[in-house]
Amino acid sequence: TAVMEKILLRRSSLLRDQQQAWQESLEGREMLEFRQSLPAYKEKDTILTAILQNQVVIISGETGCGKTTQIPQFILESEIDSARGAFCSIICTQPRRISAISVSERVASERGEKLGESVGYKVRLEGIKGRDTRLLFCTTGILLRRLLVDRNLKGVTHVIVDEIHERGMNEDFLLIVLKDLLPRRPELKLILMSATLDAELFSSYFDGAPLIHIPGFTYPVRTHFLENILEMTGYRLTPSNQIDDYGQERMWKMSKQAPRKRKSQIVSSVEDALRAADFKDFSPQIQESLSCWNPDCIGFNLIEYLLSYICENERPGAVLVFMTGWDDISSLKDKLQAHPVLGDPSRVLLLTCHGSMASSEQKLIFEEPEDGVRKIVLTTNIAETSITINDVVFVLDCGKAKETSYDALNNTPCLLPSWVSKVSTQQRRGRAGRVQPGECYHLYPRCVYDAFTEYQLPEILRTPLQSLCLQIKSLKLGSISEFLSRALQSPKLLAVQNAIEYLKVIGALDENENLTVLGRYLTMLPVEPKLGKILILGAILNCLDPVLTIVAGLSVRDPFLTPLDKKDLAEAAKLQFSHDHSDHLALVRAYEGWKEAEKDLAGYDYCWKNFLSAQSMKAIDSLREEFLSLLKDTGLIDGYATSCNGWSYDQHLIRAIICYGLYPGICSVVHNEKSFSLKTMEDGPVLLYSDGHLKMLGGYLEFFMQPAIAEKYLSLRREFDELIQNKLLNPQIVLHLHHELISAIRLLVSEDQCDGRFVFGRPDLKPSNMPVVP
Ligand code: ADP
Ligand code: MG
Repeated sequence: TAVMEKILLRRSSLLRDQQQAWQESLEGREMLEFRQSLPAYKEKDTILTAILQNQVVIISGETGCGKTTQIPQFILESEIDSARGAFCSIICTQPRRISAISVSERVASERGEKLGESVGYKVRLEGIKGRDTRLLFCTTGILLRRLLVDRNLKGVTHVIVDEIHERGMNEDFLLIVLKDLLPRRPELKLILMSATLDAELFSSYFDGAPLIHIPGFTYPVRTHFLENILEMTGYRLTPSNQIDDYGQERMWKMSKQAPRKRKSQIVSSVEDALRAADFKDFSPQIQESLSCWNPDCIGFNLIEYLLSYICENERPGAVLVFMTGWDDISSLKDKLQAHPVLGDPSRVLLLTCHGSMASSEQKLIFEEPEDGVRKIVLTTNIAETSITINDVVFVLDCGKAKETSYDALNNTPCLLPSWVSKVSTQQRRGRAGRVQPGECYHLYPRCVYDAFTEYQLPEILRTPLQSLCLQIKSLKLGSISEFLSRALQSPKLLAVQNAIEYLKVIGALDENENLTVLGRYLTMLPVEPKLGKILILGAILNCLDPVLTIVAGLSVRDPFLTPLDKKDLAEAAKLQFSHDHSDHLALVRAYEGWKEAEKDLAGYDYCWKNFLSAQSMKAIDSLREEFLSLLKDTGLIDGYATSCNGWSYDQHLIRAIICYGLYPGICSVVHNEKSFSLKTMEDGPVLLYSDGHLKMLGGYLEFFMQPAIAEKYLSLRREFDELIQNKLLNPQIVLHLHHELISAIRLLVSEDQCDGRFVFGRPDLKPSNMPVVP
């Protein structure tokens, strides 16, 4: 180690020479000047002193003030300056992979380096990191995974947790783990960074850790709500321009499902607010126009109109449009590209910004366009706090973001657009005032804004805890409920107990709450446990192809579209795919048809003809790849998997696997003379929603079957469990089991026994073509 010490000292002085050379170069000086203009730079000494004197420091400051790019650099530079550069190891976590990548690129270029020298990044399946990398940007998930093998974060000197105001599940979880780690690693420094001022909560969580606020400066931003926009532009809303285009229909359809799943108080309070609102200060035309406004849909036409209004009438400056997600962004982009002004590249540079964009596209976002060209960026809430685009003067805000929410009734997490909080709205507005006074257009009336909640509920309080519980177990953190009781804001005991109970029932935890073999496999797959089980069995039984499609399909927005005015046509189109009464198999067929059509570049036409969402199809395609690589990591699919082919299209097998995964969210049909009733496996009550949405108390109903079939499935389930628990992955045994399974199911699902009602694969699918009552 004395030798090691020497080597590190030598590397440290090399690092220092390099840093000095850069800072003395022309480019380096210019860069330093830019950095010095950032508000964070003025607090550099305060911040470094606080970190030196305290184990935990909390830093807040407005978005764009330089927290993410500067603070990790201050630490690195001060270590390098004191010739200890090669001894430090700084990890800075980001909630999203895209920000980890873009920030690391930026910081490397501020230091005049390439990625992989002193600065690197690591996200799942990707990373650039070298021997001398001292500052690593990574996703929160990557750090959690590292803790799995390295409980004490050996060698790490500083951990910076960024964007803590977002209160994501992973970040809240990481904070509990780090809080436990601090006494074991007294020399480890923890720095938390937040874009909002409510950092006291964190300070008291870390025993009164000091708070540093970076004062920022923004130019005033003029705020326009829908009523002002209509008045200013003379635009009129009519019922037809709310639903007359494809995007609008989809939005409408999607959000029609949303209220059912949302924490209803927000939705209803927006509706209440609208009902109670009085627009009497406005002209009758505006009042009439507002009465046409539909809170469930984003006005694509209105956005298009407003953008062209800005292009024709406003001063130069980039426009940032906040949308809910990638699918809306791309629909809107298609629409705008067909517009005479907005689609003209000599006048408008139209860009998108979202979690899955390519890095070449990312760079364009930060560049200034040529004179006379207006930059318009369509973005998700990623540009709210994690990515800062400098030259923005105009902001359009649709008022919504996709949020994972959780329906306690059907115990399923879902990603749905919902109204943002007041704090988010302020962040969005603030984006317009960075370089000069700006304008912010909110595409909803003021009264709706007034009904927003102040803050968003932390994810840990609004989503199911099953995956989190598995993670706690895989990190060997002891009792789940004891551990979670130490969270910043603890979830309800009942929610924790439900999650544990569920994991025991599905065989991921044993009686003593220990992880089983199945549980360990599930922790390697970042999907809901029930979907993870389907993937695992699909891999073992070698019918991965359809299973990948099904699981991917259940993780994206329903690809089957039902436009209001073409409902019958849409249902008929879907029926072609689901002649065997299975939504899951319909999904597989629809995807395969699309894949074929894509070969001739006809995927879009195919979707249009068959009432499918091309966006969902593309998303399924990339998720399939991702799941496949995850399964390879688990070691479940090599060797034998290729040795037994030809099962992929055995629908009975696929159905058995789905049933296996969805248990206990299945129920049986009990026939009487004339009627029938539904029973859960525990003979619990089943609630059948009149609008066709099926739910049952305590679980999500996905499978209908006769008692005899159910029993057989259940006994097969036990065999499957044993297979996985004992890792009996021997091809002979798998083959044997497969034959058993197939013949048993063939027998049971023979024509006269099958009533022809089937699977409802997701809570928002309508069982349109499936007769519920025989
Ligand atoms: P914060 O984390 O406080 O929101 P950042 O450190 O991300 O702020 O950004 C500070 C400033 O650095 C931004 O205001 C922007 O001017 C500049 N910046 C950040 N990333 C880039 C980039 N990739 N390209 C150009 N400028 C950037
Ligand atoms: Mg930041």
